Amino acid sequence: MMNKRALINIDYTVDFVAPDGALTCGEPGQLLERANVDLTKEFILNGEFTVFAIDVHEQGDVYHPETKLFPPHNIRNTKGRHLYGALNTLYETNKEQGHVVYIDKTRYSAFAGTDLELKLRERGVTELHLIGVCTDICVLHTAVDAYNKGFDLVIHKNAVASFNQTGHEWALGHFEHTLGATII
Ligand code: ZN
Repeated sequence: MMNKRALINIDYTVDFVAPDGALTCGEPGQLLERANVDLTKEFILNGEFTVFAIDVHEQGDVYHPETKLFPPHNIRNTKGRHLYGALNTLYETNKEQGHVVYIDKTRYSAFAGTDLELKLRERGVTELHLIGVCTDICVLHTAVDAYNKGFDLVIHKNAVASFNQTGHEWALGHFEHTLGATII
C-alpha cells in the first residue's frame, strides 16, 4: 500500500530565523528558505495535507517551562511569530485551502497538547515529512513522538537547521539510526 504523506512545517518564523529574531538559529535557518518554500509548495499543489506547527507563547507566562530556559519568543500576536520570508506569502495565499492547516503548539513537539495526531489519523496519513527549525529541538521532539505513534518519517536535511551545528548533525544521525527515518 502506498504511504499517504503529510508535511509538517515546524517553527519557520521571524523569531527563530530572522537575523534579529528573538531566538534565531541564524544563517543556517535563513539559507533553507528556498528549500522550505519549494517543498511546501509541492505539498500544497499536490493537494497533500500541509501543516504549519508553530510555537506560541503568552507574554509574561511564568508557568511555562521555557521561561527559565530561553528569552521570550513567538509571543502571540507579535511580528516575531509571523512565518519567515517567502513562506509567509505562500501561507497567506493558500491558507483558505482545506488541506492547509495551521496549528498552535506550546511545547517542542507538534504533538504535545495539540490535535495533530487526530487530524493525521482522520486523513489516513502514515508518512510525515518534517522540515523547519531547530533540527535538534522542535524537529527532534516532533520526530520522537511521531516514531512512538508509529508514523514513518522522512527528514529533508536541506530544509532543517539549528543554531547548534553539532546538535544539528547529531539529530540527523538520531533520526536515521534510532528513529528509522529516511533522510533525503
Ligand atoms: Zn518556545
